[in-house]
Amino acid sequence: MNFHVLTLFPDMIRQGCGVSILGRAQEKGYIQIRVTDIRDYADRKWGRIDDYPYGGGAGLVIQAGPVCRAYEDICKEYEEPPRVIYVTPQGRVFDQTMAEEFARCENLVFLCGHYEGVDERALERVVTDYVSIGDYVLTGGELPAMVMIDAISRLVPGVLNNQESATFESFHDNLLEYPQYTRPEIYEDMRVPEVLLSGHHANIERWRREQSLLRTWQRRPDLLENATLTKEDRRYLAALEEQEAEDEKNVLLDDSQEDSSRDM
Ligand code: SAM
Repeated sequence: MNFHVLTLFPDMIRQGCGVSILGRAQEKGYIQIRVTDIRDYADRKWGRIDDYPYGGGAGLVIQAGPVCRAYEDICKEYEEPPRVIYVTPQGRVFDQTMAEEFARCENLVFLCGHYEGVDERALERVVTDYVSIGDYVLTGGELPAMVMIDAISRLVPGVLNNQESATFESFHDNLLEYPQYTRPEIYEDMRVPEVLLSGHHANIERWRREQSLLRTWQRRPDLLENATLTKEDRRYLAALEEQEAEDEKNVLLDDSQEDSSRDM
């Protein structure tokens, strides 16, 4: 899979993506990350590519010309124009489903903004997807582009080796992953759950599924709406709901008993 990144800070991308799993994936040829310095497409003195916003206001805006020319150069390499993701706080929020969708592309271009952003006309001409990494504003698009490249790359076959790949991970099927443990068996009087030491695969699988359901129910109940659940899963979740209602009832009962004993 080929990633192209259009940026004003090429070293940030090269250094950030050049190590660990992404570094190895590039060395082995599973992915290619090519970085284009938008400044190389400047047509003004000193490689200047930004200017003041029309209508006034703070900051600088990256000009349309350098961005469009950089993109056109990339397009020359392909028969079909590649998909272009503008990373922006104004986009759809990136998630695992989007990562899976982008991982099916052969070529992807990321456009990283900086300062106040990019001239709207360049965006209208080249961008196919507007994607955010969350509802906050960063100084530039390089970190968001790296976040997305990382999440997409690990879905490309070969990028993760057997030890790193997992058949089940958080967001797989809209559930969070179950808790993980490694040696030692006892750490400062905290034991690894007995079932994981039992060697009984069916019990381990069931325990992991329940932990996964429990964790999602506690931490990200919104995900459960779109999760694929078996009858057994639903029964387990119903039992959690019942238990919670019971606990709440007991707390209310305790409170009212405390109140009445204070009134006496
Ligand atoms: N003025 C812009 C606005 O209000 O939408 C924000 C510009 S921001 C300071 C500079 C650049 O950082 C953006 O053009 C974008 O590429 C990137 N950026 C900032 N926050 C981001 C986020 N949450 N997700 C993706 N990209 C982001």
